[in-house]
Amino acid sequence: MKYYSLNNQAKEVSFKDAVIKGLAEDKGLYFPKSITSISSEIIKNIDSYSNEEIAFKAIQQFVGDEIPEDILKEIISETLRFNFPLVDIENTIKTLELFHGPTMAFKDVGARFMARCLGYFNRNSTKEVTVLVATSGDTGGAVASGFLGVKNVKVVILYPSKKVSEVQEKQLTTLGQNISALEVDGTFDDCQAMVKKAFLDRSITNTIQLTSANSINVARWLPQMFYFFFAYKQLKEKNKKLVFSVPSGNFGNICAGMMAKKLGLPIFQFIAATNINDVVPKYLKTGIYTPKPSHQTISNAMDVGDPSNFIRIQKIYNNDIEMLKKDLYSYSFTDDETKQAMKDIYNNCNYIADPHGAVGYLGLKKHNLDDTYGIFLETAHPVKFLDVVEPVVEKTIPYPAQIEAVIGKTKNATFISNYNELKSFLLTK
Ligand SMILES: *Cc1c(COP(=O)(O)O)cnc(C)c1O
Repeated sequence: MKYYSLNNQAKEVSFKDAVIKGLAEDKGLYFPKSITSISSEIIKNIDSYSNEEIAFKAIQQFVGDEIPEDILKEIISETLRFNFPLVDIENTIKTLELFHGPTMAFKDVGARFMARCLGYFNRNSTKEVTVLVATSGDTGGAVASGFLGVKNVKVVILYPSKKVSEVQEKQLTTLGQNISALEVDGTFDDCQAMVKKAFLDRSITNTIQLTSANSINVARWLPQMFYFFFAYKQLKEKNKKLVFSVPSGNFGNICAGMMAKKLGLPIFQFIAATNINDVVPKYLKTGIYTPKPSHQTISNAMDVGDPSNFIRIQKIYNNDIEMLKKDLYSYSFTDDETKQAMKDIYNNCNYIADPHGAVGYLGLKKHNLDDTYGIFLETAHPVKFLDVVEPVVEKTIPYPAQIEAVIGKTKNATFISNYNELKSFLLTK
């Protein structure tokens, strides 16, 4: 499959080059040249296909012949080594739990798939690839776990000192091997600014091959289609209209859901549920897209002021806002509303949602659900946001096995306070 840049100034590349480069030279996001529906027979008889088979049918066209079929199947099966249960919340509301992977957030799926693709493409190379990422919390852990032990790939993660939760910090600083953590004296925005500067710094890029592992990378973005199919497969009554509410920050997850719809999955509408970082809800209301600096909230993985994947969503709808508005609704919620929702879900449905999932639930509650099923994505396990969740639901949440395994380990991070320290780390380590 060929990919082109949405800024239209860079040349087309293969899937392999899109994965290795991450972003095109003109700073545009890569987008597949064509999108073909999968056979309607698969949708009709989805119950008789395994998750691995469904995922293969969904992603194969986007990889093409660049990874042999048997290896792609192996990559998929290693990516999907955990469950994606659909759980009843209320009569017509369900949640799709995306937190059963090793770091307990949905980003495990994209990170594991991307790591294995990159590992395959780099299998015979003598040149190492360095994956450089900034994280506000969840990305770092998922990338560290996904890329652990992948040959010829080095991972460098920047995170803001004292601004990630204890669980998140342990997940990204305790693995060792090919994973290094840099604890930055600053905010997430500072981390991201340093990463961006490194990508533009010729004295670095002439020496080492850098790539990103956030959702701008096609190999992290596209596999997120899979679980929209898995949700549909688990629905008992498939004749009702289906609405997905996706807690959104950079809009990679919801954009993957829209690709699943493009492939033929019968999804009626999408709700992009956001916290007070409301660029997209405002855009759908006014037609004007105004990025702004992000505000800190209790659903901090969605504190994004200029969602990078929104441009892909516009492309899926041929940049036609009227068409887009038929499929996409977007509502924003305050921290107080989110906490109240967490209380309500717990008291009425005996379910503990994390703050992001709670925002997704609120999106469904605000929407007209006549004759439809609503599914909100539970994007992380509540244990990842203990300091927020425990006081709200007034209950202690025990550590699941995945967390138990890292929480007692010793943190190993290099403290840095400026760009030059990052640069010398990249060029000497
Ligand atoms: C990353 C993340 C999100 C936001 O996903 P996007 O694809 O950036 O919209 C939501 N919830 C959690 C828990 C996350 O880690």
